Amino acid sequence: MPPDRAVLEELATANRILFQQGVVDGFGHVSMRHPDHPDHFLLARSMAPAMVTADDIMQFDPDSEPTDSDPRRPYLERFIHGEIYRIRPDVAAVVHSHSPSVVPFGIVPTVTLRPVFHMSGFLGQGAPVFEIRCCAGDSSDMLIRDRTLGAALAVSLGEHATVLMRGHGSTVVGQTLRQAVFRAVYTEVNARLQGDALRLGEPTYLSPGEAAASTQTNNGQLNRSWDMWAAQAASSPSSSIVKE
Ligand code: MN
Repeated sequence: MPPDRAVLEELATANRILFQQGVVDGFGHVSMRHPDHPDHFLLARSMAPAMVTADDIMQFDPDSEPTDSDPRRPYLERFIHGEIYRIRPDVAAVVHSHSPSVVPFGIVPTVTLRPVFHMSGFLGQGAPVFEIRCCAGDSSDMLIRDRTLGAALAVSLGEHATVLMRGHGSTVVGQTLRQAVFRAVYTEVNARLQGDALRLGEPTYLSPGEAAASTQTNNGQLNRSWDMWAAQAASSPSSSIVKE
C-alpha cells in the first residue's frame, strides 16, 4: 500500500536538498522506511536526485525488490538500503552518496574521519571504512549490486552513523529522514574541515563525551536547517525543471 502523499513529498524534498547541499550529484540516493510497513522502504526510481518528485518514489520489499510488480528501473545499489534496514531496526532513513570531501578519508588508511566540530558529533569516535575487496575480489565495479555486498556493508556500518566506502563514497543513517539528511550534509562539511585542519597540523577532535552531548543538542534543532534547506530547494533551478 502506498504511503501518504505527504511522506512521498518529504522524501522528494530530501532528494533535492541533498543535491542543493552538494551531497549528491547525478548519482547517490536517499531512502526511508515505509511508515506503515517497517520492513519495506521507499526509494526513487533510477534517476538524478535533483529531478525526483513524489511520483518517482518506488516501494521495496525486505530483499530490496520492487513491490507490486513495479516495472520502473530501480537503482543498482538499492541493496545498501535494504540490508541496513534489515539489521538496524533503529534506522529509519539512509543516504548513499559520493560526496567528494569524504572520499579521501576512505582511501588513506592512516587517517580516520572524526568529529572536528559540534555539528558532526554523530561521527562519535570515528567512521569505519568498508573494503569491498573483502567480498567482491579486486576486479569489481565498486558497486553494492547485490544482497551479499549490502549485508557486508551493513556489518561494517555496525552501530555507527556513517560508513565510508573505500574508493567509492559513503553511507549515512538516521532515526528520521531529517536526521539522516542533516548527518549526510555535516559528514561532508566535517570531512572538508578535517582535511583543511590536517594540512595545518594535528587537529584536536571532539572527545566522546563532547560528541555525544552535541549530538543530543543537535537532534533538537534538526527542523531549523531542514526548513531552510527545503525552502532553498523549492526555489532552486532544479525545482523549476521538475515542475515544467
Ligand atoms: Mn554509489
